[in-house]
Amino acid sequence: MGPDDPLLLDDDRFHGGNVCLVTGAASGIGRAVALVAAANGLTVVGGDVDESGLAETSERVDGLGFPGQFHGVVADLAEQDDVERLAERAREAGTITYLANVAGLQHVAPIESFPTEQFDRLHDVMVRAPFLLSRAVVPDLRAADHCGAIANMASVHGHYVTSDKVAYNVAKFGVRGLTNSLAAESDGDFRAFSVSTGYVKTPLVVDQIPETARQRGISVDEVVEDVMLGQARATELMEPVEVANQFLYGFSEHAAHLNGTDLRHDDGMVDTYE
Ligand code: NAD
Repeated sequence: MGPDDPLLLDDDRFHGGNVCLVTGAASGIGRAVALVAAANGLTVVGGDVDESGLAETSERVDGLGFPGQFHGVVADLAEQDDVERLAERAREAGTITYLANVAGLQHVAPIESFPTEQFDRLHDVMVRAPFLLSRAVVPDLRAADHCGAIANMASVHGHYVTSDKVAYNVAKFGVRGLTNSLAAESDGDFRAFSVSTGYVKTPLVVDQIPETARQRGISVDEVVEDVMLGQARATELMEPVEVANQFLYGFSEHAAHLNGTDLRHDDGMVDTYE
């Protein structure tokens, strides 16, 4: 399967009148979710701070000839006004039926020197914004005459943790709690689930390799082989499109009974050890 190989699903709700709101759509997994949603015919509203990345996502959707339209919205998810404007733009584009909270960032530092501003920013983008967006769109999902869904990007770091990533670890456990909370308040009129993976080949991961090497006093190759793939029964990092396909599967009618749980695709990282 190539990087642009979307899972195409037969679902009556996958059409241009229905909107999939995706955060982090300018890069990595969020961009891949936007592409796979557009490949399945949905209208996609993608929010991100990175304007040029959003433009590139738009070009990719057009270039690949996908049936769904993509609308990029520049928004800083740490700002409540931006988050609410993003939800409003999605509402203007059609019936909000799916929300994928994907945007994220990382900061690597030991707990004694972990900066408060970085802790707050990670929390704002990865927990508070998913809460704000969920709160904004739940009425849309309940009003639609079909069962829409909210999907949150979690991680193996929402199950177990590595050192020097306290904000990220706390955020990923938090987003799983948000998912469960949404499921608890759904009443057959919408669903919520999360997606967890080990390391995926995206800028977020590639960019943190040198700092992780420095922190641990090991080489860049050792970070990939021992830290990222060391606990995985795999030889390759996962591709963004493989993660995105899980979001679309979870949104589809094939996952009609998926609610509150986590789709963990981690090559055995959490369940096995050497
Ligand atoms: P990425 O860096 O490629 O993409 C993240 C996107 O989030 C970027 O486009 C960035 O601009 C956007 N973003 C960051 N701060 C923002 C803000 N304040 N407002 C709006 N947008 C903002 O990273 P990725 O690897 O695709 O990560 C996406 C998600 O997947 C994150 O939640 C991450 O924690 C999670 N995840 C990644 C991996 C991995 O190995 N790459 C594994 C598990 C989970």
